[in-house]
Amino acid sequence: MIEHDVLIVGGGLAGSRAALAVAQNYPHLSVGLISKVHPIRSHSVAAQGGMAASLGNVDNDDWLTHAFDTVKGSDYLADQNAVRVLTQSAPEVIIDLEHLGVLFSRAEDGKIAQRPFGGHTYSRACYAADKTGHAILHELIMNLRRLGGKIYQEWYVMQLIYEDGMDSHSQQVKGVVAYCLETSAIEVFRAKAVLLATGGYGRAFNTTSNDFASTGDGLGLTVNVGLPLQDMEFVQFHPTGLYPVGVLISEAVRGEGAYLINDAGDRFMANYTISKNRMELSPRDITSRNIACEIREGRGINGGKYVHLDVRHLGREKILSRIPFAREEGLRLAGVDCIDHPLPVRPTVHYSMGGIPTNIDCQVIGIDSQPIAGFFAAGECACVSVHGANRLGANSLLECVVFGKRAGEQMGAYVRDRPMPKLDPSPYIADATARIKHILAKTGNSRIAEIRQQLQDIMTEHCGIFRDDQRLRNGLEKLQAIRDRYENDLLIDDHGAVFNMELMQAIELGNLFTVGEIIMSSARSRQESRGAHSREDYPQRDDAKYLKHTLGYRQDGTVKTSDRPVDMSLKAIDSDRFTPQERKY
Ligand SMILES: Cc1cc2nc3c(=O)[nH]c(=O)nc-3n(C[C@H](O)[C@H](O)[C@H](O)COP(=O)(O)OP(=O)(O)OC[C@H]3O[C@@H](n4cnc5c(N)ncnc54)[C@H](O)[C@@H]3O)c2cc1C
Repeated sequence: MIEHDVLIVGGGLAGSRAALAVAQNYPHLSVGLISKVHPIRSHSVAAQGGMAASLGNVDNDDWLTHAFDTVKGSDYLADQNAVRVLTQSAPEVIIDLEHLGVLFSRAEDGKIAQRPFGGHTYSRACYAADKTGHAILHELIMNLRRLGGKIYQEWYVMQLIYEDGMDSHSQQVKGVVAYCLETSAIEVFRAKAVLLATGGYGRAFNTTSNDFASTGDGLGLTVNVGLPLQDMEFVQFHPTGLYPVGVLISEAVRGEGAYLINDAGDRFMANYTISKNRMELSPRDITSRNIACEIREGRGINGGKYVHLDVRHLGREKILSRIPFAREEGLRLAGVDCIDHPLPVRPTVHYSMGGIPTNIDCQVIGIDSQPIAGFFAAGECACVSVHGANRLGANSLLECVVFGKRAGEQMGAYVRDRPMPKLDPSPYIADATARIKHILAKTGNSRIAEIRQQLQDIMTEHCGIFRDDQRLRNGLEKLQAIRDRYENDLLIDDHGAVFNMELMQAIELGNLFTVGEIIMSSARSRQESRGAHSREDYPQRDDAKYLKHTLGYRQDGTVKTSDRPVDMSLKAIDSDRFTPQERKY
């Protein structure tokens, strides 16, 4: 059994910032970080456009405006107290990152440069050209290594240990079961507190900007121990995935002034009342919906399934200095040089607004909203609910750093006076060994890639940008049928003990099914349209019935849903709260 005071699962921005906070503030505690990929290959490294903070280096910005933009962007579903923590802490976490060595791009006067982003009133995204995630993640991991944090890279966490606590009345999280991809060793990791920072689930859909590792593992681990996920119906489609591959063309490109153009050559954002003022810099839910409408109504380029993103008017010099990576991607993946030609784009699955519910101290909460002992979550896999029904660009890196840091500080304080939990590893090792043996013995007819493709196609067809009850219900039925094949007809070829990726993918696929079922069940239960959740059978937002969070969980083998109230109090000044209004940009 391996032991750490604090155990972190995930080496992206949230996990590494949390681990660093423990190492910085509690040097006598031992912190371990497990990641199924090398930590600097976590999806965070691919973040491009920027990280929002009201530094006010370009405009006269302030945190309250940032908070308002975030709540309005969320279609009023965000917990306002969490938004206060996010936006109030933003300037200090940026300065803090700079002190850790992150090289942000500069304005003429030497201050940190800031660019406009969709839904933000002012220019507030701090960036390192269009490689912001890369710049931040490398510094966090380097600093963590310098301070002696222990990193278990290429270890796969397959189970959360959640069992009776010391007083045997209440359950607590005591560690995880993981297996080493390199050697196939199975280990129990015991800890006083565990943080899940396992990122998103883009791979549940057939077109996504996410990396191959974004398979919703942390969400699956949580559901498997009977705990709920929150607001899973809110799946963010980023408006500009490169057609046809789906790889992201950063919002920074529109931040720098790109146009969205349809087949008639129109900047069509002007034709929709909801977006005619902010045009291409409207929030993502609205922009993606408009693009999908253009395509559906035959105004895609040559009647096809994409529109154009045009930057030619920015000129070569600006393109090469501000958005070099976007140009490189266009050249490499679509054979288009955006200096001379527009890029083909369409919406692509990008981000999960929902996730493991937590309070503002990153403690995971159960169905009754009470904290679960020893269990924390942060980053994209968590739902502290700063994004509500729609996230604004540049607010996710910010969330990872603000709440990652906060999680580390909270966990350090939490474990200080606690003993190591009592835990017998042997049944867990026996279970994991049997489970792996069972998977390796599968000799059915269906390969992982084929089943995964079908799952992704079902999710995309039945739970895309536009939804209705009939489509969701059919989708759930199809998902169940294909899940049966996954359970009873799988074929595993690789029986090796070294880097058996097929084995890992088989477990990941199970998590994608869990995530898919909860997304669709939550989407069925919300009979209104809000943010990224657009029901054609219920086109209006319905505050009277649905200004609340959805909880989705598995009970007695089936998925159930319930709800919990939205925190409508900003808790900053007396008169404080943003009351719901109609959303227009
Ligand atoms: C292409 C792209 C560009 C983006 N650009 C921006 C941007 O400009 N601004 C912005 O704010 N946001 C952006 N985002 C969103 C943002 O990057 C992500 O939401 C954020 O980086 C997620 O960080 P994370 O730490 O939560 O998870 P990730 O960075 O995804 O890391 C997840 C970690 O969990 C580990 N893990 C997962 N499952 C297991 C398991 N079973 N066992 C062990 N380890 C496991 C992985 O190995 C990995 O280390 C972008 C996203 C994409 C895809």
